Amino acid sequence: MKPDAAALHEFMTAERREFHRHPESAFTEFWTASRIAGFLAREGYEVQVGRQIMDPRFRMGVPDEGILEACRQRALDEGADPAFVERMRGGFTAVAGILRNGSGPVLGFRFDMDAVDVRESEDPDHLPRKLGFASMHEGVMHACGHDAHIVTGLALARILASHRGSWGGTVKLIFQPAEEGVRGARSIAESGFLDDVDFMIAGHVGIVPDGSRTFYSRVSGFLSTTKLDFHFTGRAAHAGVNPELGRSAVLAAAATALQIQGIPRHSAGASRVNIGKISGGTGRNVIPEHAFLALETRGQTSEINDFMAAEAVRIAEGVGQAYGVQVRIEKMGEASDARSDPDLSKIAAACALEAGYERAVEEPLPLGGSEDFSFMMNRVEARGGKALYVVLGTELSDAHHAPRFDLREKDLPLGALTFALLARRLSKGDTGDR
Ligand SMILES: [Zn+2]
Repeated sequence: MKPDAAALHEFMTAERREFHRHPESAFTEFWTASRIAGFLAREGYEVQVGRQIMDPRFRMGVPDEGILEACRQRALDEGADPAFVERMRGGFTAVAGILRNGSGPVLGFRFDMDAVDVRESEDPDHLPRKLGFASMHEGVMHACGHDAHIVTGLALARILASHRGSWGGTVKLIFQPAEEGVRGARSIAESGFLDDVDFMIAGHVGIVPDGSRTFYSRVSGFLSTTKLDFHFTGRAAHAGVNPELGRSAVLAAAATALQIQGIPRHSAGASRVNIGKISGGTGRNVIPEHAFLALETRGQTSEINDFMAAEAVRIAEGVGQAYGVQVRIEKMGEASDARSDPDLSKIAAACALEAGYERAVEEPLPLGGSEDFSFMMNRVEARGGKALYVVLGTELSDAHHAPRFDLREKDLPLGALTFALLARRLSKGDTGDR
């Protein structure tokens, strides 16, 4: 398996710039997903789209119909294939490519493809600006490197399709919407699409800001998290004439925010809680009828996070009752804890060095954040499969989610080559069991 490195680099760079120009945020990836679907079909993959691989009951934090429709129309205006876009109506933007290549294990690779709600830098020295491939969409940007993930998936698709003699089995390449806010993975996991997968693999570019070509083969310490919206509804009244008739939603929200900070720590491990947004009320002399809180909890394990989230909900409901205010609670996102398989990690490290990484680190790298790929890992592991999450080290020009974020395009082929070599070794029965 020796793909032409120069051709691979040229292909990945050109495609990455196209995706970078057309960033789409969670569940609005119509242009992105249809371009991926078309590519996979041309490479000979069986393509599955939208509801075929997503359980609608487990999507979280889906934008409202007006936004979905506007983004769908924008994708069509920008030349997206109408046949694929039609199958993604309502924000069902997941895509998968399946390639069956004789007997062998089922290999699953997941690539997230959503952008971030960040306004890309106008700085003329910011490379995407300088070379003319900066975001065309106001306020949306590939500021986390998911454009690099997409082209890693496309390059892997091409390598595997054109080297069928070097591996055997079935590969499922999954392009996931809405990783940001941990909203999209669970619906794919719950659809059952992964239930025959023996090895489930994903990675993230960057993360470790040392700029070196280092492959971290064993990411651990995924924080379990729950994203919650609390909508408070009280009763409006004149603040001077009839204040006793009012029920203040703002006071209930404010009291809830403070009480939540008092949730006790958990003896089993680390926890986090953050009230990220508070709003409400209409004017100075009106008892406020509506108020809103956006918050998140995290925990070192799902047990700890579940405790934090349940306490936050209990407090909101209790405070609502104290203030005579209704509380509606909406779960906007969720991820569980997960661990990378050490045996799989060992094989991946060897493949990374073979692919050209300078260094492969096998000691566990704590992610410190959350990733909803954890749902896919846990689903596959619960059925006897193995799962792995890696970090593809490269040079970044700024922090993830910052307006000047960019990455070293020269390193793009390393991840694709590593995954292709890993597919070959796993399909030849090297499962790393010690
Ligand atoms: Zn990311």
